[in-house]
Amino acid sequence: MKTVLVIGGGVTGLSAMYELNKWKKENNQDIRLVLAESAEQLGGKIRTVRKGGFLIEAGADSIVARKADAMNFIQELGLEEEVVYNAAGRSYIYTDGELKLIPADSVFGIPASVESLAKSTLVSAEGKVEALKDFYTKNDRFTKNDSIGDFLEHFFGKELVEKQIAPVLSGVYSGNLSDLTIASTLPHLFDYKEKYGSIIRGFEENKKVFQSSGGKKFLSFNKGLDTLIDAYEERLDGTEILKSTQAVKIEKTDCGYKVDLSNGESLEADHIVLGIPHNAAAALIDDQELKAEFEPLKNSSLISIYLAYDIPDSELPEDGTGFITANTDELTCNACTWTSRKWKHTSESGNLLVRLFYKSSHPAFASLKEMGEEELLKTALADLEKSLGITAEPAASEVTNWTEKMPNYLISHPETVAAIESRLGREYPGIWLAGCSYYGVGIPDCIENGAETAGKIIEDM
Ligand SMILES: Cc1cc2nc3c(=O)[nH]c(=O)nc-3n(C[C@H](O)[C@H](O)[C@H](O)COP(=O)(O)OP(=O)(O)OC[C@H]3O[C@@H](n4cnc5c(N)ncnc54)[C@H](O)[C@@H]3O)c2cc1C
Repeated sequence: MKTVLVIGGGVTGLSAMYELNKWKKENNQDIRLVLAESAEQLGGKIRTVRKGGFLIEAGADSIVARKADAMNFIQELGLEEEVVYNAAGRSYIYTDGELKLIPADSVFGIPASVESLAKSTLVSAEGKVEALKDFYTKNDRFTKNDSIGDFLEHFFGKELVEKQIAPVLSGVYSGNLSDLTIASTLPHLFDYKEKYGSIIRGFEENKKVFQSSGGKKFLSFNKGLDTLIDAYEERLDGTEILKSTQAVKIEKTDCGYKVDLSNGESLEADHIVLGIPHNAAAALIDDQELKAEFEPLKNSSLISIYLAYDIPDSELPEDGTGFITANTDELTCNACTWTSRKWKHTSESGNLLVRLFYKSSHPAFASLKEMGEEELLKTALADLEKSLGITAEPAASEVTNWTEKMPNYLISHPETVAAIESRLGREYPGIWLAGCSYYGVGIPDCIENGAETAGKIIEDM
Protein backbone atom coordinates (compact mmCIF):
# COMPACT_ATOMS: atom_id res chain seq x y z
CA MET A 1 0.00 0.00 0.00
CA LYS A 2 1.34 3.43 -0.96
CA THR A 3 1.64 6.15 1.69
CA VAL A 4 1.37 9.89 1.11
CA LEU A 5 2.58 12.13 3.93
CA VAL A 6 1.65 15.80 3.95
CA ILE A 7 3.91 17.77 6.31
CA GLY A 8 2.25 20.98 7.51
CA GLY A 9 -1.42 21.51 8.37
CA GLY A 10 -1.73 25.06 7.08
CA VAL A 11 -4.25 25.82 4.36
CA THR A 12 -1.88 24.48 1.64
CA GLY A 13 -1.37 21.12 3.33
CA LEU A 14 -5.08 20.86 4.07
CA SER A 15 -6.06 21.64 0.50
CA ALA A 16 -3.59 19.01 -0.80
CA MET A 17 -4.88 16.44 1.66
CA TYR A 18 -8.52 17.26 0.91
CA GLU A 19 -7.97 16.47 -2.78
CA LEU A 20 -6.03 13.27 -2.01
CA ASN A 21 -8.67 12.15 0.47
CA LYS A 22 -11.47 12.82 -2.04
CA TRP A 23 -9.66 10.85 -4.73
CA LYS A 24 -9.04 7.97 -2.31
CA LYS A 25 -12.73 7.74 -1.40
CA GLU A 26 -14.16 8.28 -4.86
CA ASN A 27 -11.87 5.70 -6.42
CA ASN A 28 -11.70 3.23 -3.53
CA GLN A 29 -7.95 3.56 -3.48
CA ASP A 30 -5.97 1.47 -1.04
CA ILE A 31 -3.57 4.22 0.10
CA ARG A 32 -2.54 5.53 3.47
CA LEU A 33 -2.84 9.27 3.94
CA VAL A 34 -1.09 10.97 6.86
CA LEU A 35 -0.96 14.68 7.77
CA ALA A 36 1.65 15.78 10.33
CA GLU A 37 1.34 19.20 11.98
CA SER A 38 3.78 20.42 14.61
CA ALA A 39 1.32 22.77 16.36
CA GLU A 40 -1.59 21.70 18.60
CA GLN A 41 -4.06 22.99 16.04
CA LEU A 42 -4.33 23.05 12.27
CA GLY A 43 -4.41 26.29 10.28
CA GLY A 44 -0.84 27.68 10.43
CA LYS A 45 -1.11 31.37 9.59
CA ILE A 46 -4.91 31.22 9.80
CA ARG A 47 -5.75 31.43 13.50
CA THR A 48 -8.91 32.91 15.01
CA VAL A 49 -8.99 33.95 18.68
CA ARG A 50 -12.25 34.76 20.54
CA LYS A 51 -12.02 37.22 23.46
CA GLY A 52 -14.68 39.17 25.36
CA GLY A 53 -17.17 39.45 22.49
CA PHE A 54 -14.46 40.20 19.92
CA LEU A 55 -13.34 37.98 17.08
CA ILE A 56 -9.61 38.40 16.49
CA GLU A 57 -7.76 37.07 13.43
CA ALA A 58 -4.22 36.69 14.74
CA GLY A 59 -2.84 35.90 11.26
CA ALA A 60 -4.66 36.29 7.94
CA ASP A 61 -7.98 38.10 8.21
CA SER A 62 -9.58 37.74 4.78
CA ILE A 63 -9.55 36.33 1.27
CA VAL A 64 -9.49 38.37 -1.95
CA ALA A 65 -13.09 37.95 -3.17
CA ARG A 66 -12.21 38.12 -6.88
CA LYS A 67 -9.81 35.17 -6.52
CA ALA A 68 -12.20 33.17 -4.34
CA ASP A 69 -15.01 33.70 -6.88
CA ALA A 70 -12.80 32.39 -9.66
CA MET A 71 -12.26 29.14 -7.72
CA ASN A 72 -14.98 27.02 -6.16
CA PHE A 73 -13.57 26.04 -2.78
CA ILE A 74 -16.24 27.93 -0.81
CA GLN A 75 -19.07 26.07 -2.57
CA GLU A 76 -17.15 22.78 -2.47
CA LEU A 77 -16.82 23.12 1.33
CA GLY A 78 -20.45 24.26 1.73
CA LEU A 79 -19.54 27.63 3.26
CA GLU A 80 -21.61 30.01 1.04
CA GLU A 81 -24.02 30.88 3.86
CA GLU A 82 -21.20 31.88 6.21
CA VAL A 83 -19.44 34.33 3.92
CA VAL A 84 -19.21 37.97 5.04
CA TYR A 85 -17.70 40.86 3.08
CA ASN A 86 -15.68 43.86 4.20
CA ALA A 87 -17.56 47.11 4.72
CA ALA A 88 -16.48 49.57 2.05
CA GLY A 89 -14.59 52.54 3.48
CA ARG A 90 -11.75 54.93 2.87
CA SER A 91 -8.16 54.50 3.94
CA TYR A 92 -5.87 57.21 5.22
CA ILE A 93 -2.14 57.81 5.19
CA TYR A 94 -0.70 59.23 8.43
CA THR A 95 1.81 61.87 7.42
CA ASP A 96 3.04 65.21 8.84
CA GLY A 97 1.17 64.55 12.09
CA GLU A 98 -2.27 64.02 10.57
CA LEU A 99 -4.48 61.53 8.74
CA LYS A 100 -4.89 62.33 5.03
CA LEU A 101 -7.29 60.42 2.81
CA ILE A 102 -5.85 58.23 0.06
CA PRO A 103 -7.49 59.76 -3.02
CA ALA A 104 -10.70 58.16 -4.24
CA ASP A 105 -10.38 56.20 -7.47
CA SER A 106 -6.89 54.92 -6.77
CA VAL A 107 -5.69 51.31 -6.71
CA PHE A 108 -2.97 50.59 -4.12
CA GLY A 109 -2.33 54.36 -4.11
CA ILE A 110 -1.89 54.44 -7.91
CA PRO A 111 -4.19 57.05 -9.46
CA ALA A 112 -6.78 55.33 -11.64
CA SER A 113 -7.82 58.60 -13.30
CA VAL A 114 -6.40 62.07 -13.93
CA GLU A 115 -9.02 63.45 -11.53
CA SER A 116 -7.78 61.19 -8.76
CA LEU A 117 -4.24 62.49 -9.28
CA ALA A 118 -5.42 66.10 -9.40
CA LYS A 119 -7.34 65.78 -6.10
CA SER A 120 -4.55 64.13 -4.09
CA THR A 121 -3.62 66.00 -0.90
CA LEU A 122 -0.55 63.82 -0.47
CA VAL A 123 1.47 65.11 -3.42
CA SER A 124 2.61 68.63 -4.40
CA ALA A 125 1.59 70.36 -7.64
CA GLU A 126 5.08 69.66 -9.05
CA GLY A 127 4.71 65.99 -8.13
CA LYS A 128 1.38 65.83 -9.98
CA VAL A 129 2.80 67.44 -13.11
CA GLU A 130 5.71 65.00 -13.04
CA ALA A 131 3.31 62.05 -12.73
CA LEU A 132 1.63 63.09 -15.97
CA LYS A 133 4.66 61.86 -17.84
CA ASP A 134 2.94 58.48 -17.60
CA PHE A 135 0.92 59.66 -20.63
CA TYR A 136 3.85 60.48 -22.87
CA THR A 137 6.75 58.25 -21.73
CA LYS A 138 7.08 55.02 -23.68
CA ASN A 139 8.20 51.75 -22.16
CA ASP A 140 11.41 50.85 -23.94
CA ARG A 141 13.37 49.35 -21.03
CA PHE A 142 11.23 47.30 -18.61
CA THR A 143 10.15 43.64 -18.69
CA LYS A 144 7.85 42.00 -16.14
CA ASN A 145 10.91 40.70 -14.29
CA ASP A 146 12.10 44.21 -13.42
CA SER A 147 11.46 45.96 -10.14
CA ILE A 148 7.96 47.42 -9.65
CA GLY A 149 9.53 50.36 -7.75
CA ASP A 150 11.79 51.36 -10.68
CA PHE A 151 8.91 50.85 -13.13
CA LEU A 152 6.50 53.11 -11.23
CA GLU A 153 9.12 55.76 -10.52
CA HIS A 154 10.13 55.90 -14.18
CA PHE A 155 6.58 56.70 -15.31
CA PHE A 156 5.15 58.59 -12.30
CA GLY A 157 8.21 60.27 -10.79
CA LYS A 158 9.68 59.98 -7.29
CA GLU A 159 7.21 62.04 -5.26
CA LEU A 160 3.98 60.23 -6.15
CA VAL A 161 5.68 56.86 -5.60
CA GLU A 162 7.26 57.84 -2.28
CA LYS A 163 4.33 59.69 -0.74
CA GLN A 164 1.28 57.88 -2.07
CA ILE A 165 2.05 54.55 -3.74
CA ALA A 166 4.93 53.01 -1.77
CA PRO A 167 3.27 53.26 1.69
CA VAL A 168 0.30 51.27 0.37
CA LEU A 169 1.97 48.87 -2.01
CA SER A 170 4.94 47.89 0.13
CA GLY A 171 2.46 47.19 2.94
CA VAL A 172 0.36 44.90 0.78
CA TYR A 173 3.34 42.99 -0.63
CA SER A 174 5.50 43.07 2.55
CA GLY A 175 8.68 44.42 1.03
CA ASN A 176 10.68 47.21 -0.44
CA LEU A 177 9.32 48.07 -3.91
CA SER A 178 12.80 47.98 -5.44
CA ASP A 179 13.13 44.31 -4.40
CA LEU A 180 9.77 43.18 -5.84
CA THR A 181 9.14 42.34 -9.49
CA ILE A 182 6.29 43.63 -11.64
CA ALA A 183 5.39 39.98 -12.35
CA SER A 184 4.96 39.07 -8.68
CA THR A 185 2.96 42.19 -7.77
CA LEU A 186 0.89 44.01 -10.40
CA PRO A 187 1.64 42.48 -13.83
CA HIS A 188 -1.44 44.16 -15.36
CA LEU A 189 0.24 47.57 -14.97
CA PHE A 190 2.86 46.41 -17.45
CA ASP A 191 0.10 45.24 -19.81
CA TYR A 192 -1.67 48.61 -19.52
CA LYS A 193 1.53 50.42 -20.45
CA GLU A 194 1.97 48.16 -23.48
CA LYS A 195 -1.66 48.32 -24.62
CA TYR A 196 -2.71 51.88 -23.78
CA GLY A 197 0.65 53.66 -23.54
CA SER A 198 -0.26 54.81 -20.01
CA ILE A 199 -0.98 53.12 -16.68
CA ILE A 200 -3.64 55.70 -15.76
CA ARG A 201 -5.36 55.27 -19.13
CA GLY A 202 -5.25 51.50 -18.61
CA PHE A 203 -7.13 51.90 -15.33
CA GLU A 204 -9.63 54.26 -16.96
CA GLU A 205 -10.28 51.77 -19.77
CA ASN A 206 -10.71 48.90 -17.32
CA LYS A 207 -12.81 50.67 -14.69
CA LYS A 208 -15.45 47.97 -14.67
CA VAL A 209 -12.97 45.40 -13.36
CA PHE A 210 -12.23 47.59 -10.33
CA GLN A 211 -15.68 48.93 -9.65
CA SER A 212 -17.81 45.82 -10.23
CA SER A 213 -17.26 44.50 -6.69
CA GLY A 214 -19.01 47.54 -5.17
CA GLY A 215 -16.30 47.75 -2.52
CA LYS A 216 -16.72 44.07 -1.49
CA LYS A 217 -13.14 43.24 -2.27
CA PHE A 218 -12.45 40.83 0.59
CA LEU A 219 -14.39 38.07 2.26
CA SER A 220 -14.24 36.16 5.51
CA PHE A 221 -16.65 33.93 7.50
CA ASN A 222 -19.10 35.13 10.13
CA LYS A 223 -17.63 32.82 12.80
CA GLY A 224 -14.04 33.54 11.82
CA LEU A 225 -11.57 32.59 9.10
CA ASP A 226 -10.78 29.32 10.88
CA THR A 227 -14.20 28.13 9.60
CA LEU A 228 -12.26 27.26 6.45
CA ILE A 229 -9.74 25.19 8.41
CA ASP A 230 -12.49 23.37 10.36
CA ALA A 231 -14.34 22.63 7.10
CA TYR A 232 -11.25 20.97 5.64
CA GLU A 233 -10.56 19.03 8.83
CA GLU A 234 -14.15 17.70 9.00
CA ARG A 235 -13.81 16.33 5.49
CA LEU A 236 -10.56 14.42 6.07
CA ASP A 237 -12.28 11.24 7.27
CA GLY A 238 -9.90 8.93 5.39
CA THR A 239 -6.76 10.62 6.71
CA GLU A 240 -4.67 10.10 9.85
CA ILE A 241 -4.16 13.57 11.32
CA LEU A 242 -1.20 13.85 13.69
CA LYS A 243 -1.30 17.15 15.61
CA SER A 244 1.54 18.29 17.89
CA THR A 245 3.76 16.13 15.69
CA GLN A 246 6.73 17.66 13.95
CA ALA A 247 8.55 15.98 11.08
CA VAL A 248 12.21 16.15 12.12
CA LYS A 249 14.16 14.24 9.47
CA ILE A 250 13.65 12.75 6.02
CA GLU A 251 15.95 9.99 4.74
CA LYS A 252 15.95 8.25 1.39
CA THR A 253 15.46 4.45 1.53
CA ASP A 254 15.50 1.74 -1.18
CA CYS A 255 11.78 2.06 -1.81
CA GLY A 256 10.88 5.61 -0.75
CA TYR A 257 11.50 7.73 2.33
CA LYS A 258 11.73 7.30 6.10
CA VAL A 259 10.44 10.27 8.07
CA ASP A 260 11.29 10.68 11.75
CA LEU A 261 8.60 12.37 13.84
CA SER A 262 8.91 14.29 17.10
CA ASN A 263 6.73 11.69 18.90
CA GLY A 264 9.62 9.22 18.53
CA GLU A 265 7.97 7.23 15.74
CA SER A 266 8.99 7.04 12.13
CA LEU A 267 6.96 6.56 9.02
CA GLU A 268 7.65 5.10 5.55
CA ALA A 269 6.26 7.26 2.75
CA ASP A 270 6.24 7.09 -1.06
CA HIS A 271 5.21 10.71 -1.57
CA ILE A 272 5.84 13.67 0.74
CA VAL A 273 4.34 17.14 0.42
CA LEU A 274 6.45 19.82 2.11
CA GLY A 275 3.64 22.25 2.95
CA ILE A 276 5.87 24.08 5.41
CA PRO A 277 7.96 27.27 5.33
CA HIS A 278 11.16 26.98 3.26
CA ASN A 279 13.50 27.17 6.28
CA ALA A 280 11.64 24.28 7.95
CA ALA A 281 11.76 22.29 4.69
CA ALA A 282 15.49 22.87 4.16
CA ALA A 283 16.21 21.61 7.69
CA LEU A 284 14.55 18.21 7.09
CA ILE A 285 16.95 16.69 4.56
CA ASP A 286 20.64 16.30 5.36
CA ASP A 287 21.96 17.43 1.97
CA GLN A 288 24.23 20.47 1.81
CA GLU A 289 23.72 21.03 -1.91
CA LEU A 290 19.94 21.04 -1.50
CA LYS A 291 20.20 23.37 1.51
CA ALA A 292 22.26 25.76 -0.63
CA GLU A 293 19.45 25.87 -3.22
CA PHE A 294 17.02 26.99 -0.47
CA GLU A 295 19.44 29.65 0.79
CA PRO A 296 18.31 32.61 -1.40
CA LEU A 297 14.72 32.35 -0.06
CA LYS A 298 14.14 34.93 2.67
CA ASN A 299 11.44 35.79 5.19
CA SER A 300 10.48 39.01 6.89
CA SER A 301 8.74 39.52 10.23
CA LEU A 302 5.59 41.14 11.54
CA ILE A 303 4.08 41.77 14.95
CA SER A 304 0.29 42.11 15.04
CA ILE A 305 -1.31 43.87 18.03
CA TYR A 306 -5.07 44.03 18.55
CA LEU A 307 -6.62 46.45 21.04
CA ALA A 308 -10.30 46.15 21.96
CA TYR A 309 -12.21 48.93 23.76
CA ASP A 310 -15.43 49.54 25.64
CA ILE A 311 -16.09 52.56 23.47
CA PRO A 312 -18.21 52.65 20.29
CA ASP A 313 -16.28 52.57 17.06
CA SER A 314 -18.12 55.69 15.91
CA GLU A 315 -15.32 57.52 17.79
CA LEU A 316 -13.18 57.10 14.66
CA PRO A 317 -13.22 59.33 11.57
CA GLU A 318 -16.41 58.69 9.60
CA ASP A 319 -16.18 56.27 6.65
CA GLY A 320 -12.58 55.27 7.44
CA THR A 321 -11.30 51.71 7.78
CA GLY A 322 -7.70 52.38 8.72
CA PHE A 323 -4.44 54.10 7.95
CA ILE A 324 -0.94 53.45 6.71
CA THR A 325 2.10 55.28 8.06
CA ALA A 326 4.11 57.17 5.42
CA ASN A 327 7.14 58.21 7.47
CA THR A 328 8.79 55.78 9.83
CA ASP A 329 9.97 58.60 12.14
CA GLU A 330 6.38 59.60 13.03
CA LEU A 331 4.86 56.35 14.33
CA THR A 332 6.29 52.95 15.24
CA CYS A 333 3.46 51.02 13.56
CA ASN A 334 3.38 50.59 9.77
CA ALA A 335 -0.40 50.44 9.56
CA CYS A 336 -3.57 50.29 11.61
CA THR A 337 -6.84 48.62 10.58
CA TRP A 338 -10.10 49.69 12.25
CA THR A 339 -11.21 46.09 12.36
CA SER A 340 -14.66 46.56 13.92
CA ARG A 341 -15.44 49.14 11.22
CA LYS A 342 -14.16 47.04 8.34
CA TRP A 343 -15.54 43.71 9.62
CA LYS A 344 -18.82 44.10 11.54
CA HIS A 345 -18.82 40.44 12.64
CA THR A 346 -15.64 40.97 14.71
CA SER A 347 -17.35 43.03 17.42
CA GLU A 348 -20.60 41.73 18.97
CA SER A 349 -21.37 45.05 20.67
CA GLY A 350 -20.18 47.36 17.87
CA ASN A 351 -17.40 48.52 20.17
CA LEU A 352 -14.02 49.49 18.84
CA LEU A 353 -11.46 46.85 17.80
CA VAL A 354 -8.26 48.01 16.08
CA ARG A 355 -5.24 46.12 14.77
CA LEU A 356 -1.74 47.60 14.53
CA PHE A 357 0.94 46.11 12.29
CA TYR A 358 4.65 46.33 13.10
CA LYS A 359 6.90 45.18 10.26
CA SER A 360 10.58 44.29 10.08
CA SER A 361 11.01 46.94 7.36
CA HIS A 362 10.53 49.63 10.08
CA PRO A 363 13.79 50.94 11.64
CA ALA A 364 12.30 50.48 15.15
CA PHE A 365 11.64 46.76 14.61
CA ALA A 366 15.08 45.71 15.86
CA SER A 367 14.16 46.96 19.34
CA LEU A 368 10.51 45.82 19.12
CA LYS A 369 11.47 42.20 18.55
CA GLU A 370 13.37 42.20 21.85
CA MET A 371 10.33 43.52 23.78
CA GLY A 372 7.94 41.50 25.93
CA GLU A 373 4.18 41.72 25.53
CA GLU A 374 3.75 44.53 28.08
CA GLU A 375 6.25 46.84 26.37
CA LEU A 376 4.76 46.09 22.95
CA LEU A 377 1.32 47.03 24.27
CA LYS A 378 2.71 50.32 25.58
CA THR A 379 4.15 51.07 22.12
CA ALA A 380 0.78 50.31 20.50
CA LEU A 381 -1.09 52.53 22.97
CA ALA A 382 1.32 55.40 22.28
CA ASP A 383 0.81 55.02 18.52
CA LEU A 384 -2.98 55.04 18.94
CA GLU A 385 -2.90 58.13 21.13
CA LYS A 386 -0.72 60.01 18.64
CA SER A 387 -2.62 58.98 15.50
CA LEU A 388 -6.24 58.71 16.67
CA GLY A 389 -6.23 60.51 20.02
CA ILE A 390 -7.47 57.41 21.88
CA THR A 391 -6.31 57.38 25.51
CA ALA A 392 -8.79 54.88 27.04
CA GLU A 393 -7.61 51.65 28.68
CA PRO A 394 -8.21 48.68 26.35
CA ALA A 395 -10.67 46.00 27.50
CA ALA A 396 -8.73 43.23 25.74
CA SER A 397 -5.62 42.78 23.62
CA GLU A 398 -3.86 40.14 21.52
CA VAL A 399 -0.19 40.25 20.51
CA THR A 400 1.09 37.82 17.86
CA ASN A 401 4.70 37.68 16.82
CA TRP A 402 5.21 36.35 13.27
CA THR A 403 9.04 36.49 13.40
CA GLU A 404 10.65 35.24 10.17
CA LYS A 405 7.28 33.92 9.02
CA MET A 406 6.42 36.15 6.03
CA PRO A 407 7.95 34.96 2.74
CA ASN A 408 9.61 37.67 0.65
CA TYR A 409 9.42 37.19 -3.10
CA LEU A 410 12.70 38.68 -4.30
CA ILE A 411 13.49 39.28 -7.96
CA SER A 412 15.38 35.97 -8.09
CA HIS A 413 12.39 34.04 -6.65
CA PRO A 414 11.23 32.19 -9.81
CA GLU A 415 14.76 30.92 -10.59
CA THR A 416 15.35 29.86 -6.99
CA VAL A 417 12.12 27.85 -6.85
CA ALA A 418 12.84 26.27 -10.26
CA ALA A 419 16.33 25.23 -9.06
CA ILE A 420 14.94 23.56 -5.89
CA GLU A 421 12.19 21.81 -7.87
CA SER A 422 14.70 20.55 -10.37
CA ARG A 423 17.07 19.18 -7.70
CA LEU A 424 14.20 17.52 -5.83
CA GLY A 425 12.95 16.00 -9.11
CA ARG A 426 16.41 14.54 -9.84
CA GLU A 427 17.57 13.48 -6.38
CA TYR A 428 14.35 13.09 -4.39
CA PRO A 429 11.49 12.02 -6.67
CA GLY A 430 8.21 11.94 -4.77
CA ILE A 431 9.03 14.94 -2.55
CA TRP A 432 6.98 17.98 -3.50
CA LEU A 433 7.28 21.64 -2.49
CA ALA A 434 4.02 23.42 -1.70
CA GLY A 435 2.69 26.58 -0.15
CA CYS A 436 3.34 30.19 0.60
CA SER A 437 7.14 30.06 0.52
CA TYR A 438 7.10 29.26 -3.19
CA TYR A 439 3.87 29.67 -5.15
CA GLY A 440 2.07 32.79 -3.85
CA VAL A 441 1.17 33.93 -0.34
CA GLY A 442 -2.56 34.64 -0.72
CA ILE A 443 -4.92 32.02 0.70
CA PRO A 444 -6.46 31.27 -2.74
CA ASP A 445 -2.94 30.78 -4.17
CA CYS A 446 -2.16 28.33 -1.36
CA ILE A 447 -5.43 26.41 -1.89
CA GLU A 448 -4.84 26.20 -5.62
CA ASN A 449 -1.25 25.12 -5.17
CA GLY A 450 -2.23 22.45 -2.60
CA ALA A 451 -4.80 21.03 -5.03
CA GLU A 452 -2.33 21.10 -7.94
CA THR A 453 0.28 19.29 -5.86
CA ALA A 454 -2.25 16.59 -4.98
CA GLY A 455 -3.06 16.32 -8.70
CA LYS A 456 0.61 15.68 -9.55
CA ILE A 457 0.83 12.93 -6.90
CA ILE A 458 -2.38 11.31 -8.13
CA GLU A 459 -1.05 11.35 -11.69
CA ASP A 460 2.21 9.83 -10.50
CA MET A 461 0.44 7.01 -8.66
C1 LIG B 1 -0.05 38.22 9.87
C2 LIG B 1 -0.44 37.63 8.55
C3 LIG B 1 -1.51 38.17 7.86
C4 LIG B 1 -1.90 37.63 6.62
N1 LIG B 1 -2.99 38.13 6.00
C5 LIG B 1 -3.47 37.51 4.89
C6 LIG B 1 -4.74 37.86 4.38
O1 LIG B 1 -5.46 38.68 4.94
N2 LIG B 1 -5.17 37.22 3.25
C7 LIG B 1 -4.42 36.25 2.63
O2 LIG B 1 -4.86 35.71 1.60
N3 LIG B 1 -3.23 35.86 3.14
C8 LIG B 1 -2.75 36.45 4.26
N4 LIG B 1 -1.59 36.04 4.82
C9 LIG B 1 -0.84 34.97 4.16
C10 LIG B 1 -1.49 33.60 4.35
O3 LIG B 1 -2.09 33.53 5.62
C11 LIG B 1 -0.45 32.51 4.24
O4 LIG B 1 0.35 32.69 3.08
C12 LIG B 1 -1.06 31.11 4.20
O5 LIG B 1 -1.99 30.93 5.24
C13 LIG B 1 0.08 30.12 4.27
O6 LIG B 1 -0.43 28.81 4.30
P1 LIG B 1 0.56 27.58 4.19
O7 LIG B 1 -0.23 26.36 4.46
O8 LIG B 1 1.33 27.64 2.91
O9 LIG B 1 1.65 27.83 5.33
P2 LIG B 1 1.47 27.96 6.91
O10 LIG B 1 0.19 28.56 7.25
O11 LIG B 1 2.74 28.57 7.38
O12 LIG B 1 1.40 26.43 7.40
C14 LIG B 1 2.53 25.66 7.57
C15 LIG B 1 2.26 24.71 8.73
O13 LIG B 1 3.36 23.81 8.82
C16 LIG B 1 3.61 23.57 10.21
N5 LIG B 1 5.00 23.08 10.28
C17 LIG B 1 6.14 23.77 10.09
N6 LIG B 1 7.20 22.94 10.17
C18 LIG B 1 6.71 21.70 10.40
C19 LIG B 1 7.32 20.39 10.54
N7 LIG B 1 8.65 20.22 10.46
N8 LIG B 1 6.49 19.35 10.77
C20 LIG B 1 5.15 19.50 10.84
N9 LIG B 1 4.53 20.71 10.70
C21 LIG B 1 5.31 21.78 10.47
C22 LIG B 1 3.35 24.92 10.86
O14 LIG B 1 3.07 24.76 12.24
C23 LIG B 1 2.14 25.41 10.08
O15 LIG B 1 0.94 25.03 10.69
C24 LIG B 1 -1.17 36.54 6.06
C25 LIG B 1 -0.09 36.00 6.77
C26 LIG B 1 0.27 36.52 8.00
C27 LIG B 1 1.40 35.89 8.78
